[in-house]
Amino acid sequence: MLVCQAALPVGVVVTALWMPIFAFVGDWFLVLLVGFLLLVMAACWEAARRGYFSAGYIAAQFASGIFVVYFSLLYDVPSEAVPRVCHLYFLVIALAGYANFGRDRGVLQLVVILLCLFGFVVFASSPMAFSFAVPMPEAVRAVTAWINVASVAILLAGGVVLLQREFTLDGNTARELRSALADSQFELFYQPQVDQAGTVIGAEALLRWKHPKRGYVPPDEFVPAAERAGLMPRLGSWVLKEAAQTLSAWRAHPATRDLVLSINVSADQFRMADFVPLVTETIEAYGIEPAVLKLELTESVFVADIDDVVTKMKALQRAGIGIALDDFGTGYSSLSHLRQLPLQQLKIDRSFVRAVTESGRGASLARNIAKMGHDLSLEILAEGIETEEQFQFMLSCGCRKFQGYHFGRPVPLAALEERIAAPAQALVG
Ligand code: C2E
Ligand code: MG
Ligand code: MG
Repeated sequence: MLVCQAALPVGVVVTALWMPIFAFVGDWFLVLLVGFLLLVMAACWEAARRGYFSAGYIAAQFASGIFVVYFSLLYDVPSEAVPRVCHLYFLVIALAGYANFGRDRGVLQLVVILLCLFGFVVFASSPMAFSFAVPMPEAVRAVTAWINVASVAILLAGGVVLLQREFTLDGNTARELRSALADSQFELFYQPQVDQAGTVIGAEALLRWKHPKRGYVPPDEFVPAAERAGLMPRLGSWVLKEAAQTLSAWRAHPATRDLVLSINVSADQFRMADFVPLVTETIEAYGIEPAVLKLELTESVFVADIDDVVTKMKALQRAGIGIALDDFGTGYSSLSHLRQLPLQQLKIDRSFVRAVTESGRGASLARNIAKMGHDLSLEILAEGIETEEQFQFMLSCGCRKFQGYHFGRPVPLAALEERIAAPAQALVG
């Protein structure tokens, strides 16, 4: 993630630095072109910041790659005295792509990496000097060749150092996570889920790591490392047991008996051969109604053998356990998947909810997603509701279940139970 975090800002800075050089040479068309590339990269950066990380990141690589091809063919034509160097940037783009591929294994990212390597090989192995080229003056190329090669060397070295740091951090985190499991440093927080009247109808259990030095560490900071270290099945089993314990305690009180508790299931955990029996046996062991447990799957689960996924989901459905599709709209699922899967609930991702009050397009996208869920007879829950306006809009789309800071942040179990016992204090902002 370190490389991914650095790549877009560094890309923007490196691109911007070329503007004064081209202005100095007096090539205003190139200044304009680089300005346009900068705008595209800034838009990609903004998209990445808004939750479309891979899309923005890959689009930025693609735009830079096109520019490298254009510049190499037209301006950076090799001569006897000065070699072509611009194509070396393909290696930098490929390295940045590789860092993202480690984070999010998408086909598109792989294609962009391969295209960059292919581009590098082609430009490195042949002069590719065409008659339509308008090479920069030789004196300018002689200087900029040094600048380009030095900057590529620095970027590659920086990238490798950051990747190396990430691997080391990953290794340390994995070691720490193993001892955290042994030392019971994990806790579940509970975020209320409410109906249209704001009444708590259930909660989502969210994992927290109570680190002895760093305090509460949010899952986004350790779940990816736990996944890479293959620890999610163990962590997930702990979450399941803990949730079952809570549900069993809730069963004893009329105010909590009907609350539904959702837990997040990682793709690794779902893939375990004994996942279904583990869930059903846990439910039986704690004597809870299957209908009060809900499993939240993300679309990453469907990347695996879809027949196996459907078989498992059907077995869980037969056992009476509800399944929700989490972060809907951000991943891979196609409409045909949606029809095929025995789902009970669609959770509209908070990136769509945030967009409803930002633009007309955002609003109509959220409305269409909700409509699609209704057409498929699925229950719709809108995630990440932060304002009354977002709540009212999603209500008008036919959503009847909600979750978000507007209704309550994730809190320890005792705090949630306190709130349920005193419903007059509902709508904690
Ligand atoms: P998620 O399942 O989509 O969980 C919702 C996340 O959104 C939670 O972050 C929650 O605190 C946050 N959130 C809720 N309402 C709002 C809001 O109004 N605004 C904003 N900005 N954020 C809101 P959290 O707890 O940091 O969890 C992040 C992700 O980590 C979860 O996303 C889930 O994918 C993963 N995760 C959490 N617990 C577990 C677990 O036990 N197992 C697995 N496999 N993954 C988990
Ligand atoms: Mg979730
Ligand atoms: Mg979610």
